Amino acid sequence: MKFEVITLFPDMFKAIKEEGVIARAINKSILSINTWQLRDFSDNKHNNIDDKPYGGGAGMVMQVKPIRDCINKIKQANPNTKVIYLSPQGEKFNHKIANKLSNIDSITLLCGRYEGIDERVIEKDIDMEISIGDYIISGGELAAMVLIDAIGRQVSEVLGNKDSLNDSFTNGLLNFPQYTRPQQIDGQKVPEVLLSGNTASINHWRLQQSIKRTKQKRKDILALKDEK
Ligand code: SAM
Repeated sequence: MKFEVITLFPDMFKAIKEEGVIARAINKSILSINTWQLRDFSDNKHNNIDDKPYGGGAGMVMQVKPIRDCINKIKQANPNTKVIYLSPQGEKFNHKIANKLSNIDSITLLCGRYEGIDERVIEKDIDMEISIGDYIISGGELAAMVLIDAIGRQVSEVLGNKDSLNDSFTNGLLNFPQYTRPQQIDGQKVPEVLLSGNTASINHWRLQQSIKRTKQKRKDILALKDEK
């Protein structure tokens, strides 16, 4: 699976390209992340890609032409790429969307900066707008990395085992509590059942714990599960 990222700050992606699960998947050629410096598509000698908003107001707006030219260039090699604009006004990102997108071969992520992008790009060049939550961050790069990680880890072979089946949200529940050595610390003990070696009892206990903590912490996702 290929991620194409349009950004003013390509170096930010070193974080995800060089460390952790996604970096390992890149090394195994399961995933790729290709960054595109939007300034390379500027048509002026200062490499500007933004201008003042029509109608006045604070801040700058990213212009249509460099973004459109960059998307068109990406589409020459990836005609079917799905172009996603990271935006606080987009559909709220979640596990289900990540799972759906993990089946796509090529995704292009457009990272906004300043006051955002000219509306005409959204009208003509964007397939989908995605938000990572109801708050404003300074640019789309961190949001793009959230998507790459959440989508990428759902691509088969990326985790290389079945661990993700236990992850929260996968089965519509939060993950059960986890413990590791030592068996006892500062008076806190590991639940007996986890030491029993009895797989059926352990699985039963874990499911009960998942249901209990989902009721306690996220009644909203239990309601969604019931709706299915
Ligand atoms: N003026 C814009 C608005 O109110 O909708 C916000 C611009 S924000 C400072 C700059 C860029 O950060 C946006 O174009 C978008 O790419 C990104 N961004 C900010 N918040 C985001 C969020 N919650 N989810 C995804 N991207 C976000």
